[in-house]
Amino acid sequence: MRREQTLEEISDGKLYDSNDMAKADCHDCEGCCDCCQGMGDSVILDPYDVHRLSVGLKKPVEQLLQECLELGVSDGNILPHLRMTGEKEQCVFLNKEGRCSIHAVRPGFCRLFPLGRLYEDGGFKYILQIHECPKTNRSKIKVKKWVDTPDLKKYEKFVNDWHYFLLDVQEVLYNAEDSDLIRNLNLFVVNRFYLKPYDQNQDFYIQFYERLKEGKELLALA
Ligand code: SF4
Ligand code: SF4
Repeated sequence: MRREQTLEEISDGKLYDSNDMAKADCHDCEGCCDCCQGMGDSVILDPYDVHRLSVGLKKPVEQLLQECLELGVSDGNILPHLRMTGEKEQCVFLNKEGRCSIHAVRPGFCRLFPLGRLYEDGGFKYILQIHECPKTNRSKIKVKKWVDTPDLKKYEKFVNDWHYFLLDVQEVLYNAEDSDLIRNLNLFVVNRFYLKPYDQNQDFYIQFYERLKEGKELLALA
């Protein structure tokens, strides 16, 4: 994500690693669902999010796109995001009780909130956003416990590599004058990383890195 605001404007000013403690624990959110509504197209999903949803909900990605996700343009990339509906623009997965109906397979963005990521120098640190979550009685929790994702080191590497790959794609898209190149590159990203199913019986990350290698080769030719 490209940020124009300063760290101090959006966060408590500290940078966190996964083993650090951060005041992010909202006590099971207790009656609040603020970050599950009115988010527009900002809850962008990475390939692992979509794979996890597809496996967890037992639905092919095409069906997810019809029912609960949408494709949108983010900094030039065409990427899927959670669909918001109704007057309050609520996430389609928010149930009548104001709870997430897919908690076990919720996307990375939702696992992180109110934490965020600050990408710098080829890596990233966690930050604690201060204007996003209205709960004032949050407790300290270890970042890795809050993120609640298996194989965290592998996951963090994937998140980072995906982020910087998308930046490289954006660079090509911004400089491209050939509309076929723009269309083909966007189609490649959507098809190869999201729509083409990942084998559930094999390690997701191994399959992702095979595709990433292809993607980088394609960028080198662009
Ligand atoms: S805004 Fe904070 S308390 Fe409310 S649902 Fe989101 S994380 Fe939980
Ligand atoms: S997936 Fe769940 S946690 Fe995430 S925005 Fe939707 S309802 Fe909220």
